Amino acid sequence: MIDTDCFIDGHVVKTADTFDVLDPSTGQVLAAVSRGGKAEIDLAVDAASRAARNWARLSARERAQHLRAVGDALSARSEELAMLESKDTGKPLAQARADASVAVQYFQFYANAVEQFFGDVIPSLPDVIAYTHQVPFGITGHIIPWNYPMQIACRTFVPALAVGNCAVVKPAEEAPLSVLAIARIAYEAGLPAGVLNVVPGLGIEAGAALSSHTGINHLSFTGSVPIGATIAAAAAANVIPVALELGGKSPNIVAADADLDLALPVIAKSIIQNAGQTCSAGSRLIVQDSVHDEVVDRLATIMGRLTIGAGPTDPDLGPLISEKQRGRVISMVRAAQETSDLRLGSADPLDREGFFFGPVLLDRVDPAAQIAQEEVFGPVVAVSGFSDIDQAAEIANGTDYGLIAAIWTSNVTTAHRLADDILAGQVYVNTYGAGGGVELPFGGFRKSGFGREKGFEALRAFCETKAVVIKVPR
Ligand code: ADP
Ligand code: MG
Repeated sequence: MIDTDCFIDGHVVKTADTFDVLDPSTGQVLAAVSRGGKAEIDLAVDAASRAARNWARLSARERAQHLRAVGDALSARSEELAMLESKDTGKPLAQARADASVAVQYFQFYANAVEQFFGDVIPSLPDVIAYTHQVPFGITGHIIPWNYPMQIACRTFVPALAVGNCAVVKPAEEAPLSVLAIARIAYEAGLPAGVLNVVPGLGIEAGAALSSHTGINHLSFTGSVPIGATIAAAAAANVIPVALELGGKSPNIVAADADLDLALPVIAKSIIQNAGQTCSAGSRLIVQDSVHDEVVDRLATIMGRLTIGAGPTDPDLGPLISEKQRGRVISMVRAAQETSDLRLGSADPLDREGFFFGPVLLDRVDPAAQIAQEEVFGPVVAVSGFSDIDQAAEIANGTDYGLIAAIWTSNVTTAHRLADDILAGQVYVNTYGAGGGVELPFGGFRKSGFGREKGFEALRAFCETKAVVIKVPR
């Protein structure tokens, strides 16, 4: 059974209209999904408001027990969820399995974290006791993209629930199915009705209704820069906080003294994972001149050997999410190939059903070129050279983004200098990404957005801080 309808207040809610969700591996219709709009968002916000009265009053321990129960229920069905995610997004099954496992980790991590989440006692005047309470906002809204639906949904709503908020979630129209399944499984695992509500629908309908709703007290958005700006404007109109995660143009920087045997498979994975449709994809490769040719040759060999196929058959590389997305990738590669060396692949789509696009490696890319500046969201890596580490930092910082970066070197000074100089929310040395990394603060500098998700920081982000000051006269 595939869940295709809104899940509000513990109930399935159907709408008059539906929209088609496609299987990107075939281009065929996978499901017709309820097309939620303002009416369903209103219902969901009302349900969340009613549920919040009790949910916020539970002890942290009781909420943690609920989260653990949901995590266990998801874990028991992780194979089913992984297969659903693989069909819905086209991502290779092993990657969908990893996503299911990370989704479960959010429940486990925040169940444990919230039991250790305290306010402060603040030394103040001698006749005063001052302390802080962390108070949930109330109702949180979450707008989710299509690239990692279950991971990103859990990343944003689990810490919100942990501290006592109730949530309304709007998954992406391209891939809403796993988030709908999670809402139902969570309810069946005992999460009280109305604590977690999911309304699928189009961005301009359900998304806009959610982001402008006056009953929402905090918004989290992951997606594109222009829509992020729209969401921030909607939040500003209601004077509510917003967390924006808007992607990046993240570099792998390879110094001449790097261990290439260690680096190259990880660098390849950083751009190939989810067919490059990852906000933290390693879409730029910045290589020191003396090892440039060797790095490009070896990377071309690795990327040239990838298996390509439908997500559920677990290839290295699945399809892109949609024809529209593939069109964007094609036009960016076409433009780039005029001014750089196309070392692997082609700007043409693969000749098979579904939205497939093969791996592309572009060398000698001008760091100012569009392909080195803008997010492609495809399996496309742009390589530029550098001579010294100051230049590497300048190129790394030379885009509007600052989400993550990796430095490959065996020199401790190079590692620290670049880790210091690079403007990014996460910097890795001799690795890229940290598995799910649920405990690591994640978010961007500059146009990669603001606010931090994951880790303990997310618990604070979903609370108002109240300072209580009590005079104790002597
Ligand atoms: P992409 O271009 O990769 O699809 P978007 O930023 O358009 O990324 O979409 C991310 C999420 O934002 C999706 O859930 C989408 O439905 C939603 N969305 C798109 N437009 C709007 C909007 N005007 N208001 C609210 N949400 C929107
Ligand atoms: Mg869109």
